[in-house]
Amino acid sequence: MGNYSYISHVECPKCGEHYEDAKINQLCACGSPLLARYDLEKVKANVSRDCFATRKNSLWRYHELLPVHNEKNIVTLGEGMTPLEKLPTLGAAYGLTNLYIKDEGVIPTGSFKTRGASVGISKAKELSVRHLAMPTNGNAGAAWALYAAKANIRATIVMPVDAPEMTRKEVYVAGGELYLINGLISDAGKTVSNFIQQNGIYDASTLKEPYRIEGKKTMGYEIVEQFGWKVPDVILYPTGGGVGIIGIYKALFELKQLGWIDNGKLPRLVAVQAEGCAPIVEAWKNGEKESRFFENSKTSAFGINVPKAIGDFLVLEAIYHTNGCAIAISENDLIEAQKQVASLEGNFICPEGAATFAAARILREQGWLQSDETVVCLNTGSGLKYPETVQIQGIKTLLPGQEI
Ligand SMILES: *Cc1c(COP(=O)(O)O)cnc(C)c1O
Ligand SMILES: [Zn+2]
Repeated sequence: MGNYSYISHVECPKCGEHYEDAKINQLCACGSPLLARYDLEKVKANVSRDCFATRKNSLWRYHELLPVHNEKNIVTLGEGMTPLEKLPTLGAAYGLTNLYIKDEGVIPTGSFKTRGASVGISKAKELSVRHLAMPTNGNAGAAWALYAAKANIRATIVMPVDAPEMTRKEVYVAGGELYLINGLISDAGKTVSNFIQQNGIYDASTLKEPYRIEGKKTMGYEIVEQFGWKVPDVILYPTGGGVGIIGIYKALFELKQLGWIDNGKLPRLVAVQAEGCAPIVEAWKNGEKESRFFENSKTSAFGINVPKAIGDFLVLEAIYHTNGCAIAISENDLIEAQKQVASLEGNFICPEGAATFAAARILREQGWLQSDETVVCLNTGSGLKYPETVQIQGIKTLLPGQEI
């Protein structure tokens, strides 16, 4: 009989320190985020990649490579195994014959943050956490409040007043303790930090607990499984805190170590940001290993309005190591891409996801993408959560009986 989880410990990617996963872990003593490590040799010996196809369509199909030991601690709304679909019409418009969408718009809670919440809350439950707190740009707080409700854990959520209104309502309806802050996510972070230190509460902030990223990495597993255990050439990811792109990078590495990838080298990873908040792009352009705080950041793609990410060095490593790149998209270009994807392919995607399509178009024009390369754009959430990004013009109101 194999184990339910093959997690062995959590490890600091900066100083190499090990910690037990059976205890509550936040940041490393050196200040770096911690990453979960698995006994991949044992997984290799006991698990066949073919078993996954026989399991439920949920990210928990990969439970051996997730951190929860006891199945009864799993908190799930059936998340994961989202569609990976080819977009032939948009692809033709962009000059990309193998353009795909990985569509997180259809997942519970309306954004991919659900993956991090399902795994993060399940592990928190296993560790007997009773109360957690986090700063958020909206979607993470929404997802964590809803999963916390299911796990009977108290959730204190602090988000900017400008965050998408729907996410505020998700926290509220879940019974989360919601605070709005007249500032950015970085301001919310400081407030949460003080609150946690004074009250001994679990810090669920981005990368300040090691398991949210474990949920997000499953996007990487799914992409590879859905391509028949092959990797695409390029994955474009809308990058804010960077957990998604680091998670995908981690997943690809794990699969490679397991010998479960049939073709070629790792995909080139592209961090897509908005021109109004592009700290990773600036750092990448200068060949730096860390980013600098991006002053006065602003973009309608709210999930990627993160002026300084605690895991920036890991995002940059993922880009450098895979020969990827970083690119900033204007507000006009991302709104136009959102309209184009919906009108040509029928997907109503979020503005963050739209930025990746604008990036694919531009990178093809610049020759960075070849026309026959397999390119995956990650749509991280549903357009339905952002009604304000679509400005309707020229609609006629009819009187009853009036002809069109
Ligand atoms: C949070 C968020 C992002 C950014 O994800 P990170 O993993 O933090 O980089 C992108 N899109 C949406 C819709 C988000 O909510
Ligand atoms: Zn360390």
